[in-house]
Amino acid sequence: MRKLIVFAAAGLLSVSVLLAAKSHSPKIAAERIRQHVKYLSSDALEGRGTGQKGGDAAADYIAAQFKSYGLKPAGENGTYFQSVPLVGVKTLPETSFALLPASGEPLVLRNLDDFVTSNETQTASAEIDAPIVFVGYGIAAPEEKWDDYKGYDLKGKVALLFVNEPISDDPNFFKGKALTYNGRWTYKYEETARRGAVATLIIHRTDLASYGWEVVRNSWGGERSYLKLDGTPKLEAASWIQEEVARKLVGMAGLDLDKLFLQSQSREFKPIELPVHLKAHVVSALRPFSSRNVLGMVAGSNYDMAGEAVLYTAHYDHFGIDRSKPGDNIYHGAIDNGTGCGILLEIARAWGATKTAPRRSILLAAVTAEEQGLLGSEYLGKHSLELSVDPILDLNYDALAPIGIPEEVEVSGAERTTFYPTVEKIAGEFGLAIRPDAHPEAGHYYRSDHFSLSRVGIPSFSIGQGRKFKGHDLAWGEAQAKDYVDSHYHKPADAFREDWDFAGLVKMASFGYALGQAAAEQEWNARWLPGDEFEKAWQKYQSGAIDTDTLFAGHPELKIVHFEPIQYPPLARQTRISGSVVAHVSVASNGKVTQVKTEGHPLLAGIVRDRVKMWVFEPGSERTFDLTCDFVLDDNSPRTEKRRYSVLEPLHIRAAAYPSVVTDVY
Ligand SMILES: [Zn+2]
Repeated sequence: MRKLIVFAAAGLLSVSVLLAAKSHSPKIAAERIRQHVKYLSSDALEGRGTGQKGGDAAADYIAAQFKSYGLKPAGENGTYFQSVPLVGVKTLPETSFALLPASGEPLVLRNLDDFVTSNETQTASAEIDAPIVFVGYGIAAPEEKWDDYKGYDLKGKVALLFVNEPISDDPNFFKGKALTYNGRWTYKYEETARRGAVATLIIHRTDLASYGWEVVRNSWGGERSYLKLDGTPKLEAASWIQEEVARKLVGMAGLDLDKLFLQSQSREFKPIELPVHLKAHVVSALRPFSSRNVLGMVAGSNYDMAGEAVLYTAHYDHFGIDRSKPGDNIYHGAIDNGTGCGILLEIARAWGATKTAPRRSILLAAVTAEEQGLLGSEYLGKHSLELSVDPILDLNYDALAPIGIPEEVEVSGAERTTFYPTVEKIAGEFGLAIRPDAHPEAGHYYRSDHFSLSRVGIPSFSIGQGRKFKGHDLAWGEAQAKDYVDSHYHKPADAFREDWDFAGLVKMASFGYALGQAAAEQEWNARWLPGDEFEKAWQKYQSGAIDTDTLFAGHPELKIVHFEPIQYPPLARQTRISGSVVAHVSVASNGKVTQVKTEGHPLLAGIVRDRVKMWVFEPGSERTFDLTCDFVLDDNSPRTEKRRYSVLEPLHIRAAAYPSVVTDVY
């Protein structure tokens, strides 16, 4: 009897798998993916280098494909392209660093042996003579109740700090062993620059960086690419120094590096000003150039939702051609990321062929300069408010080996969002087990394009294959992965093979299509789980054009900690109710809003009350303020939610909506 039940259940399961697969039915073709990968990794494309002929040809090819699928151009000026301005910066050998103690002999450092540096401010030369301040890990993370700065002003100073983050086994403290973004070297430069530092010295320790000095030296010895300056604070000398140099440096102040490391583990840590100056002369060769992201879309069908879009991304660039090398000097990038592009193109074709458009729009972006430091996607994220639709979720594809049919999927980061139950359900329908990140301490999450979207608040993750493939054991999959990393990854040997099996990539593309379909149709939008490191960015993203700095300008007592945007209530829009609401708001000493008294139409006043009650300010004395919200019906109101709001003046918001009611097309 028991056996019978098991059989019956198994029978039901396979039927439901079939039904699920059928209802998604995107008709993704292995042969088409194969052709894309083969062409993009061919000699003709010369390794798709950023700013090189082959990279440009790849962008043109992808745009032509988008067009042939009937996708609408979603780039600039009615084209499929968004231009990405970049600058190559190479630190020249005449660059010099010296450590000058208040008394005693200066210590002259050797470029590349003792330190590496890059001038992020993109000037040909920079002179630095500034005091060095040890700031522990240099982390300010309110969600972890951690602040290494304690109000210390870094303006005009040189920050000295450790890479990585406080040691933790507690999943509720810096995510335990997993690395959060606060531990990445990129964060260190960004945070110290935001605080006005002119230079930052990251102390290299092989164990903390997870790689040796050789890796630092190699990746900082040549040209580095940056987005053209856009007002984001930058360092004149973004640097690493050898551990032994750091030891000597703190020794000049009579301090011990190991003791400083221990002190850095404490919440009580305070910055330590050292009686030592950095005197630096940074000389750089600059090479401005530009590259392009390729953007196509399928417009959604529902008025209230079509301004939002499910975004798919994959980078198309690779390392180009190295003419200084004999033999095969083309970095073909067949797996990295010809495969992601092949999948992206097939997903684009499937969406272009759908008879009924989904409720939300679908946006597809092949991004550039990933290998240069996620620059194309960074530009896309930073300029997301300029797109014709607002991305609400990003699904990214980066390097999927066509070696068979995966029985596992990796979706690291998805578990940090409210979209995860949907991901689990659909993975189940596809017979895919979700494989957790095997090395969360390595921080892979922060090293692919989806992260550029996460950091502006958009729930984002990459879809990758796990290690278990049909007809093979786990060890086989692990051996394949190891062989790829050892012999092919970022080498000319990452080249196309005729014997590759693309059936697995069809499965990965179909899975992503199904996820996108769910996200495009569901009533709610995915968000980061409470307390996540990206929750704050998400809130800021939701407030869109509402700049809270402007909203509370001139009111230093109103430092906002948590903001919820005030949306035009759909019922008010549909019944053509407009008008102003004035809210009298009381804030308690703990920063919470205790009372909101409103004047205005109840339907409009209701939303103001609901949202303002969720606002939280920094603690202080009890305070009150008046907020005015104008709800305006406007024929020229943008379709996208985030641009329907603006700050007219401090404590005065305008929320606009398009008056006509367009119901669903189907
Ligand atoms: Zn790569």
